[in-house]
Amino acid sequence: MAEKKVAKSDDEWRRELSLEQFEVLRGKGTERPFTGKYDHFEAEGIFLCAGCGAELFSSKAKFDSGSGWPSFWEPASGGSVIERRDISHGMERTEALCSRCDGHLGHIFPDGPQPSGLRYCINSVSLGFAEADKGD
Ligand code: FE
Repeated sequence: MAEKKVAKSDDEWRRELSLEQFEVLRGKGTERPFTGKYDHFEAEGIFLCAGCGAELFSSKAKFDSGSGWPSFWEPASGGSVIERRDISHGMERTEALCSRCDGHLGHIFPDGPQPSGLRYCINSVSLGFAEADKGD
């Protein structure tokens, strides 16, 4: 991805983000399931990083996983989401982060629908949304 990295101090992030956004994006927290605003949300458009505005997921790749968190089977582009091994909380998982600002998005699980077989399980508070142009 050609876009420049966004790097800010925790103090800067604290000023820009809500407390809940800060705790998830910068503190790797998790919102409670079935509470996020994009869990049941069916508009067409692009989901953006709530930290830096990077385009992360198309609504076309969103599916209802029943998990209580917005779920996608692929990122908007190959470089938009980075993966990192996460062994916190006594589990071995794959963490999903915004490639531009390293914000924590959620986790990736190998039980998603085809064609990818992946489930990007993402916190609503880590996301913003830009509605698709009606003319498209
Ligand atoms: Fe970001």
